[in-house]
Amino acid sequence: MSELVSAYLERANRQLAEALPAAAQIPGVRRRLDAAGLEAGELTDSAALARLPVLGKDELISLQASEPPFGGLLAEGAEPPRIFQSPGPLYEPQRGGEDPWRWRGALEAAGFTAGDVVLNAFGYHLTPAGVMFELAARALGATVIPAGIGNAELQAQACRDLGATAYIGLPSYLKALLEKAAEAGLDPASWPLERAFVGAEPLPPSLRAWIEARGLAVRQGYGTAETGNLGYECDEVAGLHLPEDALVEVCDSETGERLWDGRAGEVVVTLYEAEYPLLRFGTGDLSAIDPEPCRCGIPTPRLRGVLGRVGEAVKVRGMFLHPRQATEALAGVEGLERFRLVVERVEHRDVLRCELQVESGGDGAELQRLVAERIRAALRFNAEVVVVDQLPADAEPLVDLRSWA
Ligand SMILES: [Zn+2]
Repeated sequence: MSELVSAYLERANRQLAEALPAAAQIPGVRRRLDAAGLEAGELTDSAALARLPVLGKDELISLQASEPPFGGLLAEGAEPPRIFQSPGPLYEPQRGGEDPWRWRGALEAAGFTAGDVVLNAFGYHLTPAGVMFELAARALGATVIPAGIGNAELQAQACRDLGATAYIGLPSYLKALLEKAAEAGLDPASWPLERAFVGAEPLPPSLRAWIEARGLAVRQGYGTAETGNLGYECDEVAGLHLPEDALVEVCDSETGERLWDGRAGEVVVTLYEAEYPLLRFGTGDLSAIDPEPCRCGIPTPRLRGVLGRVGEAVKVRGMFLHPRQATEALAGVEGLERFRLVVERVEHRDVLRCELQVESGGDGAELQRLVAERIRAALRFNAEVVVVDQLPADAEPLVDLRSWA
C-alpha cells in the first residue's frame, strides 16, 4: 500500500471512528450489521467495515420498498429539507449542511470562485443533480442561474445578458448550448464564459478538445445521486481525486477485497453523515485506484476515470477487465490500425492475447513491444501480443472466448 493510500485510510479511520457509533444506532444499519455478524463496537476502522457486504443499488431499492420510504436507514427524527426520486424508484433524502453532496472543493479545484456567475444546467426535476450543484456553487459564494436542461437558446441568451462566467452540467449539453448560441447569432466568443465543470456522462477527449478550443477550461467530476462527490479533476487532468470527506474504495465485486494497487473493481462508498449514513454502498461503476501522489499536491489517491459498469467487465486471472479500459489504454498508439484483446482458457488457465493490425508502413515488432508495455502499465496484465494481417473494422475491443463447459 502506498504512503498516500495509508494516509488517506488513516484520515478515513478517524472519521469512521467518530461517525460509526451513531450510525450503528439506526435500525436499518443495525440490521445490516446483524446480518453480517458484526457488533457495532467492532466497527473501528475501514478494515473492519470491509466485513460488511456491499449494498447494491437494487438492494437499496428493495429495502425501501419493504420499509418505505427509506428502508430504515434514515435516523429517527431526521427531517430532510428535500427528497429526490431516481429511477427504481429510489428515494434520496437530502442530508444536512450548506453543501450536502460535498462538491464545493471540486468546484474550487476547477477554478470556480465567489465571483462566478454559474449557469447550472443539471436537472432540477425530481433528480438531485441540479440542487446538488446549486448548493455547492452557493457555498462557494457564486451566483447561480438555475437553468436545468432544455431551452438552450434562452439559456444562451441569459448567459450573454447576465455575463455567465462558468457552466455546470453535462458536457454534451454544453456543446449543444454553444452550437445553439452560434446558430442564433449570439457569438459565444463575446461571452465571458471561462470554465466548465461537467459530469454524469463520459467526456471523450475529442469533446474536451472541442470545448477547450472555444476558450473554456473544462474539468470533470464523478459522483452519484445517492452519494454526491466521489472524485474530481485537478489542473493536472490526470484522474479523479478522491474527496477527503468520504471513504471511496475500489473492491473486487465478487470477493469484496479492497484493491489499492491499481487493479480494477467496483467503486464502493461510505458516507459518514449522522442522519443518513451510507455504509459500503456499491455504485456498480468500475474503476481503479492510482495510488501515487499527484503533482498538484491534493493529498488523496485518484480514480482512473470510470471504466464502465461492473456487469460489462470480464474477470481474467481473477482481475476485472472492461472493454473501455482496453480502448483507453491503446488510444493514440502510433502505427496501430486496430486491435482486439482475446481471452481464452488454455489448460485451465486464462490467457490474454492482443491481436493487432499494423498501419501500412508501420514497424510491427516495435508496435508489439509498445502495446505490450501499455497493457502492462495501464491494465496490469501481461498479454501475448501478436500481429495479424486483418481485423474486421468493427472488431470488439475485448472478446471472451472461454468456455466453461
Ligand atoms: Zn491532482
